[in-house]
Amino acid sequence: MKEAALVLIKPDGISKGLTGAVFTKFSQADLEIIGIKIAKASRPLVEKHYEHLKDEPFFKGVIDYLMGKGYKRKKLLAIIYYGEGAIKKCRKIAGVTNPEEAHPFSIRGSYGRITTKGLYENVVHVSSSRRDAKREIQLWFEPAEITRELYPENKIVEQEKKRVWK
Ligand code: ADP
Repeated sequence: MKEAALVLIKPDGISKGLTGAVFTKFSQADLEIIGIKIAKASRPLVEKHYEHLKDEPFFKGVIDYLMGKGYKRKKLLAIIYYGEGAIKKCRKIAGVTNPEEAHPFSIRGSYGRITTKGLYENVVHVSSSRRDAKREIQLWFEPAEITRELYPENKIVEQEKKRVWK
């Protein structure tokens, strides 16, 4: 069955110029990109993204990491891959969490490292289940930014000020 997976190219991947290499690896999976954006991650967004890790000793480190603290480029690239077995395929290409244990051909095995502070700097995030993918995609994207209707939507009239071209 077709499904969606959220992939984030984390600030280390952006700062080290690995974007092209990461796309090349994922392109082997024969999946469709249905959403993509460059984003500067705010603390509340990242804390929600990693809420399952809030009791871990590395929580602060991983929040700073995703926000780009200390990196040349403080942003990340969010991509939604869609297709048959997207989550399993993307996770295989990404490799396991610890870059030293990841398969050397995987993204994390090829380009990841453990920092001197002990953080796994592993280049990409990939959703780990359909439930997580839905939660994460709804955090990072609005319905209009995705080229498929993945989840139920509501239409509202916005009254907010909006930036437009002069
Ligand atoms: P994954 O990203 O593989 O789904 P987790 O959700 O458990 O793994 O962890 C989120 C991120 O936190 C990891 O990608 C990695 O950057 C960091 N991390 C996870 N476990 C550790 C650890 N034991 N020590 C240091 N950093 C870790």
